[in-house]
Amino acid sequence: STLEETLLSAIRTIPDYPKPGILFRDITTMLGDARAFRRAVDELVHPWAGSKIDKIAGIEARGFILGGAIAHQMSAGFVPIRKKGKLPHETVRVAYSLEYGLDEMEMHKDAIAPGQRVILVDDLIATGGTAEAAVKLLTQMGAQIEAACFVIDLPDLGGRAKLEALGVSVRTLVS
Ligand code: 5GP
Repeated sequence: STLEETLLSAIRTIPDYPKPGILFRDITTMLGDARAFRRAVDELVHPWAGSKIDKIAGIEARGFILGGAIAHQMSAGFVPIRKKGKLPHETVRVAYSLEYGLDEMEMHKDAIAPGQRVILVDDLIATGGTAEAAVKLLTQMGAQIEAACFVIDLPDLGGRAKLEALGVSVRTLVS
C-alpha cells in the first residue's frame, strides 16, 4: 500500500474532541502501529538523508515522540520546545496566540549554537501558530532551519503557507 494509505488508515479521527465541532486527528494509533510509525519517521526526513543535520527540535508533546525517533535515525541531537515553566535552565521564550488568549513556549538558551542546522518536527500543522512560534525561537537562537516536518497537514487552515511565507520549507505526509 502507498504511504498515504498506510498513514491514513493508521490515524484515527475523534469527533467533538477536545470540544464540540472539532474533528481531532489522533496519532496514537499510528504510533502504536510499528510499520506505520517507522514509515512516518523514515519518510518525514527522507529528503535530508545523508545531509548533516545537527538538531531535531520537537514541539511538546507529540513532536517529542516523532522527534526523538527522527533524531536517533539521523544521528542528530534532540531539542525540546516546551510550554512555559517546564524547562529547568535559562530559556528563550515567545508568546503566541491560541484560539482563546495567549500562551508561551520556551527552549533552553544553550540548546542550539548559532549556525547549527535544525529540522523542526510536530505531528500536525493546522493554523501554523504553534510552528511559527517555534520558528521564532529557533531563529532567535541563530539556528539555520532546514525544514519543518509534520505527519499531517490541515491545508484549509493555512499553516503551511504561513511558514513558507517566513521562508521555511515545509514537508508533510498526509492532508
Ligand atoms: P496550530 O498551531 O497549527 O493551529 O495547531 C497545531 C498544534 O496543535 C500542534 O502542536 C498539534 O499537535 C496540535 N493539534 C491541533 N489540532 C490537532 C489534531 O486534530 N490532532 C492532533 N494530533 N494535534 C492537533
